[in-house]
Amino acid sequence: MIALKLLQLSLFITTVHSAFFSNSISGSARVVVPKFENSFGITSHMNEKKQLRETELFFNMDKLSHKLSQLHQSASPESDEKPYRIIIAGAPASGKGTQCELIKNNYGVVHLSTGDMLRAAVADETEVGKIAQEYMNSGKLVPDDVIIGVVAERLNQPDCLEKGWLLDGFPRTRAQADALASTGVSADCFLFLDVPDELLVERVVGRRTDPETGKIYHMKFSPPDSEEVNARLIQRTDDTEEKVKVRLQQFHDNVDSVKGCYGDIMVELDGNMAVTSVADKVKDALEKCRAAV
Ligand code: ADP
Repeated sequence: MIALKLLQLSLFITTVHSAFFSNSISGSARVVVPKFENSFGITSHMNEKKQLRETELFFNMDKLSHKLSQLHQSASPESDEKPYRIIIAGAPASGKGTQCELIKNNYGVVHLSTGDMLRAAVADETEVGKIAQEYMNSGKLVPDDVIIGVVAERLNQPDCLEKGWLLDGFPRTRAQADALASTGVSADCFLFLDVPDELLVERVVGRRTDPETGKIYHMKFSPPDSEEVNARLIQRTDDTEEKVKVRLQQFHDNVDSVKGCYGDIMVELDGNMAVTSVADKVKDALEKCRAAV
């Protein structure tokens, strides 16, 4: 029974993927995407032929949510151990990415960063990427209906259902939190990393990525120790002082309403400590949340 459900789910997802990530738009990508960012199983589908029209898909969002909710509910109860479902939130450069690597390794959950997913979609010139690009380039949030569809679909893929997930960068608005709840998907723990704004700006503008390894450096706090790595580092196009101010504003406009949705499972942590100290606190928090499930 579960195998049949998962087969149905895969067929359904293939169709949705094709619609979201069709590659029919020409033009050059303006956002630099490191190779590692293609690890979400998205880009492997990028070249599939478009099977549903974009408009059809957008107007069918309700149907999509309902279908995903049904499949999710029918697939979960039969698994032996309940997969861990975690949301991590915080301002730009609050350290989510670093902690996500550690959490993913400790708990074996699937890491889903909406920023990375969107950058991959932009680089692959998909329909979603084309819509997202101008918002991302100016530091603004991508429209809720675009990102909700992407996340809802991804959370219901077999790997997330089996291993659990770590949602990084979503929900970022009250509408996104409500949409997630309406699909019947709930998290076990909501981690919030708290870092003062004045530190965030400095963290963002000095941030660089190694496109070969995906490793994140900071030119002042953690520069690479080899000239070779240094020469190939890239900077995200939205990691400028001007754009981070817009991103921070968007964050402050929405954060309280999102936190308000997760009061019962929220753990707020000081993100202004050494990485290892934050990691220890994250681990404690996740153990406590798990015990409470
Ligand atoms: P950060 O949170 O550090 O600004 P991310 O890599 O998480 O960076 O996101 C980069 C950009 O992707 C955001 O500025 C926004 O334009 C877009 N984005 C990511 N997640 C979402 C989301 N949940 N809702 C709307 N836009 C999003």
